[in-house]
Amino acid sequence: MPIDAAAPYDESNVFARILRGEIPARTVYEDEHSLAFHDINPAAPVHILVIPKGAYVSWDDFSERASEAEIAAFVRAVGHVARSQGLASPGYRLLVNVGADGGQEVPHLHVHIFGGRRLGPMLSR
Ligand code: 5GP
Repeated sequence: MPIDAAAPYDESNVFARILRGEIPARTVYEDEHSLAFHDINPAAPVHILVIPKGAYVSWDDFSERASEAEIAAFVRAVGHVARSQGLASPGYRLLVNVGADGGQEVPHLHVHIFGGRRLGPMLSR
């Protein structure tokens, strides 16, 4: 069910629960500001989610409220994870769904990293 982008941060969302260690995740990277783990329902041979540790509902929320340090760390974390998975040279795709029209289902900002095969066209028409 797509989220309501205007809703306040929901501390019970599944990624908040992963950050608190209440449910497991297959972590691939962690630093002060960011966490990366495998998607539970992969849509490509490599499908990793990178999330900020701060309580941000969406890209819209993060880009407006996050500190320079959080933003810099998050962008570097996404690049680092893709490189560490061997994706830089064959290439990969980043995707961020934002709000209802974007199809965002989990109300904590996450960047999808897809790779491991030719991914085809960006969107179906
Ligand atoms: P969205 O549609 O919000 O952009 O993507 C949410 C993603 O979170 C989906 O790809 C879904 O498979 C993934 N996901 C949902 N629940 C869990 C979970 O409990 N653990 C992990 N690792 N991924 C999850």
